[in-house]
Amino acid sequence: MPSHNPRTIAEAIDVCRQRLRGISGTPWLDARLLTQHVTGLDASAVIAYGDAALDARRRSRLFDLTERRAAGEPVAYLIGHKGFCGLEIAVDRRALVPRPETEELVALCVEDWKGKAPAIAELGTGGGAIACALAHLLPNASITAGDSSIDALELAAHNVNALGFGEQVTLVHSDLFDAFPQSTYDVIIANLPYVAMQDLKSLEPQVQEHEPHDALFAGADGLDTYRRLLEQAPARISTGGTLYFECGPYNALALGDQVRQAFPGAQVSVHRDAAGLERMVRCSTGSS
Ligand code: GLN
Repeated sequence: MPSHNPRTIAEAIDVCRQRLRGISGTPWLDARLLTQHVTGLDASAVIAYGDAALDARRRSRLFDLTERRAAGEPVAYLIGHKGFCGLEIAVDRRALVPRPETEELVALCVEDWKGKAPAIAELGTGGGAIACALAHLLPNASITAGDSSIDALELAAHNVNALGFGEQVTLVHSDLFDAFPQSTYDVIIANLPYVAMQDLKSLEPQVQEHEPHDALFAGADGLDTYRRLLEQAPARISTGGTLYFECGPYNALALGDQVRQAFPGAQVSVHRDAAGLERMVRCSTGSS
């Protein structure tokens, strides 16, 4: 790499794209994001100024990053941020890269609580993406977000402060609800680890080799952490409150059943994501 020495931004994007073909599922997007990162240009400028020269230092930086991408590092870790619900969230190896399907979990919650002022508990916040997105989209909500990983919480604190949500979001170092300050919350939302340990090998290499395993795996069926949460959640939800959980298409129905057992009489629904996969469980304890 490279097969020839590209002189312009457009040529450099093309060389990177070719390098990532067959390796990344999104070679052109990856090439564009890495080029944006080394040039400091935004998505439209990097296209509009395609004919501009790329100096040797930036070119070599771009090719280094492209090689790391080719070796499996997620783009978001290479460039240090990821778009999520209209925010740019800082990301690194301390937490999972926020996923587009998790934006749908946020959307499900926001649809229910738009214009209201719920007290929200987020369990397993990682780098704080869900908490920040909820603060952004529900400006009257107050959010307490916890994680058992101090490293992840440091990243979350960076995001909460950098995005200006310090007033709205409180972070707590907590194993599930253990250190949460309020007794009950109107909303409980979580994207806990849900991958079955035996599925390690079926994850994309960029996930299994680079993202924190503590945030991914939870026992033989992937539901160990959710089972522990479901022991605590009935005592921590306010009357009429709602719970929102992300899970995998392979354990959505099982999680739905466990939620029904924990909340008899509640309305429990399993929702598909934009890819058509059963991905979310919503549990409304209220009358509607
Ligand atoms: N969606 C992630 C994956 O399959 C898993 C996230 C999680 O376990 N919470 O890679």
